[in-house]
Amino acid sequence: MSNRILIIGAGYAGMLAATRLERVSEPFTMVNKDPYHYFTTLLHEAAGGRGEPTHYTVQIKDVLRKPTSEVIVDEVTKIDRERRVVVGKSGEYSFDYLIITLGWVPEYFGIEGLKENSLVLRNVDTAAHIRNHIEQQFQAYLSDGDETHLRIVVGGGGLTGIELLGELLDWVPKLCVKYGVNPSLVDLQNVEAMPNILPQVSATLREVAVQTLTERGATLRTNTKIVKAEPGVLHVDGAEPIRAGTIIWTGGVRANPLLAEAGFTVDRRGKAKVNAYLQSVDDERIFIGGDSAWCEDAEGKPVPPTAQAAMQMGKVIGDNVSSHIHGQPMRMLTLKNKGTLASLGPEVGVGDAFGIPVKGVAAGLAKEATKVEYLWELGGLRLVADKTGEVVHI
Ligand code: NAD
Repeated sequence: MSNRILIIGAGYAGMLAATRLERVSEPFTMVNKDPYHYFTTLLHEAAGGRGEPTHYTVQIKDVLRKPTSEVIVDEVTKIDRERRVVVGKSGEYSFDYLIITLGWVPEYFGIEGLKENSLVLRNVDTAAHIRNHIEQQFQAYLSDGDETHLRIVVGGGGLTGIELLGELLDWVPKLCVKYGVNPSLVDLQNVEAMPNILPQVSATLREVAVQTLTERGATLRTNTKIVKAEPGVLHVDGAEPIRAGTIIWTGGVRANPLLAEAGFTVDRRGKAKVNAYLQSVDDERIFIGGDSAWCEDAEGKPVPPTAQAAMQMGKVIGDNVSSHIHGQPMRMLTLKNKGTLASLGPEVGVGDAFGIPVKGVAAGLAKEATKVEYLWELGGLRLVADKTGEVVHI
């Protein structure tokens, strides 16, 4: 009986599932939209001009080097569970075992005009787009003198929005020097519907974040809900509309819609239900991980849509697919929470690492250390050496 393993999506979960399969010499095919894997947790750096977008990518074939590992560049458009094929724009791929790690898409909550009139931080292309757009707004200001071009609004005060804000606070003064613009004319705002930014960190650390960001020049507008967007204008509840040259939406995520379209049992954010072995509840030969999965671990803890959870899920999936094929017992996911770290610009941040609160430079360093750990996990010393010169400063 054949056991064709197909992995769709080369995010953190997909890549780690693949490296585990390579370790036990299990052949597989991976289909991904791009020939590279990118570091989602570092995209804010690329958007904020810290490094070239390509510094935040690694070629999949540079990681998955075994001749039995096939990598196909194609965009998946459909999962056909009945025929046991995945349909792409350029072909169809059959499977006996399927690993779905397709990640997330922005959640707009049905807010009128938001999709059409905002930028998102979703992949290296959109990160580059944000960066180029902001530079173009500086150039537009020089040509027509309209200060609206210099207002940047980040909608959503979760980790994505706040890390991006921290990065922009670092980059904007450099842009001001480059274009000869008075820094006091630049208006960097965060708009958050809830009473607080960063619900994931403790109240004390949140205060540190608020203070750090406001001292560096950002305006944090909490209790301010975005209700509508038009070209260059955000409408919010209870306040004047905000006119801005750059509008970025980081207000939420949902699973790739292909899962719901394929008829999996999904939650309200489109994630497909899996058991603690990460098998779909609808099909024991389909494993789902990362932001595509609706999951509780072995202890019944809901698994959050974070990179560290995706990495742990990927490893369990790789091991379990191999075990299932060979009739061996599978293992349950036991989530190890290593903490949450939010960078507030290069070298500073807040969060907790292994339950210990950290702030300032220590948090920045802890975040750098997690990058190195991940690179090590993915590609050993070779990849750490390749990428640290560009991305990680140790
Ligand atoms: P999120 O859902 O965590 O945060 C979105 C924020 O937008 C919320 O605070 C929400 O109240 C706000 N919002 C929603 N609708 C709004 C509206 N109409 N007007 C104004 N504000 C509105 O989304 P995220 O920040 O993209 O994070 C997604 C996931 O990725 C989370 O699980 C997060 O923990 C994880 N993540 C982790 C890191 C890290 O560990 N450093 C970094 C980025 C993301």
